[in-house]
Amino acid sequence: MKGLLAAAVATIITIAAQQGRRTIALVVVGGTVLTQNAAHEILSPGAVAIDGTDIVEVGTPEAIAARYRATDTIEARGDVVLPGLINTHTHAPMVMYRGLADDLALMDWLQKYIFPAEAKTVSPELVRIGTRLAALEMIESGTTTFADMYYFEEEIAKAAIEAGLRGVLGQTIIQFPVADARTPADGLARAERFIEEFKDNGLVVPAVAPHALYTNDRATLVASAELGRKHGVPVIIHFAETEEEVRLAREKFNATPAAYLESIGFWGPNTLAAHAIWVTDDDITILKRHGIGLSHNPESNMKLASGAAPVSKYLAAGVALGLGTDGAASNNDLDMFEAMRQASFLAKHVTKNPTALPARGALDLATVGGARALHMEQRIGSLATGKRADLIVVSMRSARQTPLYDPVSHLVYTTRGDDVRTTIVNGRVLMRDRQVKTLNRDTVIADANRLAAKVREAVR
Ligand SMILES: [Zn+2]
Repeated sequence: MKGLLAAAVATIITIAAQQGRRTIALVVVGGTVLTQNAAHEILSPGAVAIDGTDIVEVGTPEAIAARYRATDTIEARGDVVLPGLINTHTHAPMVMYRGLADDLALMDWLQKYIFPAEAKTVSPELVRIGTRLAALEMIESGTTTFADMYYFEEEIAKAAIEAGLRGVLGQTIIQFPVADARTPADGLARAERFIEEFKDNGLVVPAVAPHALYTNDRATLVASAELGRKHGVPVIIHFAETEEEVRLAREKFNATPAAYLESIGFWGPNTLAAHAIWVTDDDITILKRHGIGLSHNPESNMKLASGAAPVSKYLAAGVALGLGTDGAASNNDLDMFEAMRQASFLAKHVTKNPTALPARGALDLATVGGARALHMEQRIGSLATGKRADLIVVSMRSARQTPLYDPVSHLVYTTRGDDVRTTIVNGRVLMRDRQVKTLNRDTVIADANRLAAKVREAVR
């Protein structure tokens, strides 16, 4: 009798507890959860509760089950759950030029191959089809946010939104006539229309992207920075990428690129500078003073033999540093796992110091570091209550990943993009168990192949 009563009481308590549970859209449960919060907290096992666009709570599976009733559950036992990777520098549609011209230095590559190929083939169609292909590759390899600079950026924005990816998307400004603008003034007007069209979008942050200091004159650089400030949007530039760029700046302006850009009032608190390889200690002080976000692109920098950015110095100085792949024509893929691995190896190699950029440091660059570089650390980069639900589930079951002692080591040193099982952005499941939900994989690849025949014809 006593036992029966106790059982009845227990049942009543359970029902009451269940009735008190909040209904949410989704829970990812059972995996090892790398929060990437300030304490680098790891829950094993853990659970992430998601509703709408946001993370509601991160906790143990028991704690989450006690408080929430989820409409949908993603089982992640044996997998690793972490914030989606942030690619801080790419040119998404350039996947269409993948493998078209390799084994060249930056200036030759740009002036003899890429700029001419682009002059003949860049169109809204190429940008749209290329961005869909890039989005497919990014979703399949665990990238949830990408920073971009290209032409017809509104097509990139529409394709990113369609695919469900988050983007900081910069309309390119360049001094010479290009497919979407005859003059820099045309480019700036186009950039302003683009900013106005997308500035309230939940996924896209529009930006203005003056290509570089060697492809724009002073007036265009200043006007680009002013446009960014006027609308409170990011300004993105290629910066100190080659020794050639530094030599040019010293000859023409008697200053380093960092000092020159400071002298014309270009730097602002919402600037993202890609590459940042050839800098002096004084330049690092300038970048830090202006709160510039930097994008480190180890694979592109090695492939074009541009050099190696002083990653350890930037981190020691507290400069906001993220990681990027650069466009697929100079990488040649968009796999951020490979970018993490190469970033770590390159840092060790150039400093002759194996403790330079350890696995945790490389993972930080691709998550929290990228969020800081994009000035978005309040919204993305770690798994915490109130942040956007941008996360990935990575399988750790392959021969390559066995045995598993340390998930951070594996994510940086053995994992490949193909190991990502599930990709979630803004609370929406974009890929589940390798099935991409937002793009038709076959159509995207067939369209790209059809267009590639035209590109091949044009550059022959
Ligand atoms: Zn680039």
